[in-house]
Amino acid sequence: MFHKNPGYGNCENDETHPSHSSHNSHSSHLESCIPHLQPLVYNTRMRIYSLLLILAVAGAAHAWQCFPSADALVYAPDGQSGVARRVQEIVHAELPRLAHAVGNAHSLAPMCIYIYLDRGAFRRDTQSTDLVGGITRYPSGKIFIDANTPTWDFSHVITHEMVHNLLNQRLGKQVSSLPVWVNEGLAESLSSPFPFRITRWGTVPFLATPSLPLPKLAAAFQGADALYSTIAYLQSGAMVNWLETKHPGALRRALGGMVKGRPFAGELAHACGLTPASWYNHWRADDRRAEQHGRYILYTLLGLWLLKIVVAWIRRRMSRST
Ligand SMILES: [Zn+2]
Repeated sequence: MFHKNPGYGNCENDETHPSHSSHNSHSSHLESCIPHLQPLVYNTRMRIYSLLLILAVAGAAHAWQCFPSADALVYAPDGQSGVARRVQEIVHAELPRLAHAVGNAHSLAPMCIYIYLDRGAFRRDTQSTDLVGGITRYPSGKIFIDANTPTWDFSHVITHEMVHNLLNQRLGKQVSSLPVWVNEGLAESLSSPFPFRITRWGTVPFLATPSLPLPKLAAAFQGADALYSTIAYLQSGAMVNWLETKHPGALRRALGGMVKGRPFAGELAHACGLTPASWYNHWRADDRRAEQHGRYILYTLLGLWLLKIVVAWIRRRMSRST
């Protein structure tokens, strides 16, 4: 359940979206790449390469079927209406909550979501590793989902990527100046399927969980280390949970300031009086406190259990002696 944003790959410069108006029953996410090839066709060899690529695109195009709804254009392999309907239901159920949290309830464009049933094709098209379940491209906001994600995690992955899409819509080019850990933290906080496993600050109550200082946190998302990457997602989500609890709506207000071209750090300070560093420090202190409280509760329960055993043992001894 790892996710990368912004995405990368063979449609990096994908400012042109698939046609929303035509709602073709068959389309391809690769079609938007074709216009970018035009300037490159200046000799015979390039013509041949381009022709081969266009033929490959045309060959791939028939595989996609568009299932449109008011909220999203869901592209799934031909005839796979079941998985497309599931995705549409998730989008429809989650969109109002997510849009409110990000603050762009009034500027929504339908999301383009491509659902892959073939994991190999997903990995090839998104150039992702086996750990990635979904990717949102920048700047188009196109979402690519691996449908082989376990059922219990499917909704989480889609919801997570929807947040990236909404942030792209909200901030436009400014999204690249939003720290990656805030972007991922918002996506993780708003989509986490495990509220019961962690406290709202992030710690498993009685375990000392590691945390990454901000410079390492930002790097851990793109790193190859799966453990660090997992910690980065959980910690970012927990930090956003913390901020939303202590300063409700602060991130939404900061995003609103960024829309006007102002930098994130200044808007965060304006919204809640914190810098990214002091946000981390305050969260870390509360996280450690929650961990300590959890440990006290655990020790108390263990103590009561031991006391119960001792009392039972004494009673047995006394009943034997009488
Ligand atoms: Zn993500």
